[in-house]
Amino acid sequence: MRIMKIVLAVIFILTTSFVSAPDRNVYICTGPKSVAYHLSTRCRGLDRCSASIKMVPQQYAIDKGRRGCKLCTR
Ligand SMILES: [Zn+2]
Repeated sequence: MRIMKIVLAVIFILTTSFVSAPDRNVYICTGPKSVAYHLSTRCRGLDRCSASIKMVPQQYAIDKGRRGCKLCTR
């Protein structure tokens, strides 16, 4: 029964980490003034981007200190 508990714990951890860090891609402007990430390349927040737009995993954007865009992430 002990192994069963460990297996359940592992499944729980895997499920939780999957939910808290969804593996989806977001869009960031590579310009130095950009601080947000976007869910769509058509977001108005990206219109002002003077540099190029790059698709990255959401977790990568967060790790780089980007926050969700007010226009398209809520
Ligand atoms: Zn946006």
